[in-house]
Amino acid sequence: RRAVFAALKTEAPVTKDGHRLTVMVNAGLRDDVAALDVTGADGIGLFRTEFQFLVSATLPSRERQQKLYRDVLDAAGDRPVIFRTVDIGGDKALPYLNKEDADEENPAMGWRAIRLALERGGLMKVQARALLEAAAGRTLSVMFPMVSEPWEFDEARALFEAQREWLSARGKKMPNEIRYGAMLEVPALAEQLDLLLPNISFLSVGTNDLTQFLFAADRANPKLAERYDWLSGAILRFLAKLVAPTRAAGVQLTVCGEMGGRPLEAMALIGLGIERLSITPAAVGPIKAMVRSLDRAALAAFMADLLKTPPRDMRGALLAWAGENGV
Ligand code: PEP
Ligand code: MG
Repeated sequence: RRAVFAALKTEAPVTKDGHRLTVMVNAGLRDDVAALDVTGADGIGLFRTEFQFLVSATLPSRERQQKLYRDVLDAAGDRPVIFRTVDIGGDKALPYLNKEDADEENPAMGWRAIRLALERGGLMKVQARALLEAAAGRTLSVMFPMVSEPWEFDEARALFEAQREWLSARGKKMPNEIRYGAMLEVPALAEQLDLLLPNISFLSVGTNDLTQFLFAADRANPKLAERYDWLSGAILRFLAKLVAPTRAAGVQLTVCGEMGGRPLEAMALIGLGIERLSITPAAVGPIKAMVRSLDRAALAAFMADLLKTPPRDMRGALLAWAGENGV
């Protein structure tokens, strides 16, 4: 099977009825970029910049950040890279950030990601400058994690724009284009999505966090892992509602949580109309194989029907459809 998946490296993720989907990889370290060539993926849909911070004993300097980002862009070449600003704090606490801030009862719902970054503006400024300079003369795609309200995105973007002006005024070469996006992983954001869509180029759904918040179920607690399935009516209906508004606004919609790397889950996402996945590199072969066996129109019709009265065993229903339809 490995050989089969490796052979798919040069094959595009096109469904049997001719839809070209986009399959990208999640990455976080310099060496992860090699996965692009190994898998033939379309780009890096999620570069987790906090990894460099987590493996470092002290706060990475602007120079070190910039070097990493430039190396990643160089290695990716023409393929797009979406850099996510640091998702630290909470359970990804850094010993060299203020210790007393890290003492939280519910770290996943705590002072993390954009919440921390907006308050610790210095941290975000340094990262913004590193990203802006690293992407000089190229496209910079940047997204913000754990956005709960549209104003948080506005503030983060304003911070980047202020840094761009500051650097420009000092004669630094800047990116040709900056594309801004947000992660949707806090359910509250979905309720005000109409306010956010005009300001973003892309929206990336983090199903790892989204699931734990939708179900109020800790993603790290093994006692709950079996209880709430990604293939549930609640999650699939939630995701289905994002498709039409993002499409109408011309905003790219991607799923970048682990869910998209599992064939049956990815099949369900595609059935909802999701066309872009960013997944763990090892999953690219299996997902491409699934996509290439799929009649997207037939699946979409089946899913629409299924979500009207979601069965308790959603997984079983999807598995049966896959079996009957040669997926
Ligand atoms: C997610 O929450 O689904 C996600 C992609 O981000 P992370 O796993 O880094 O929290
Ligand atoms: Mg997340």
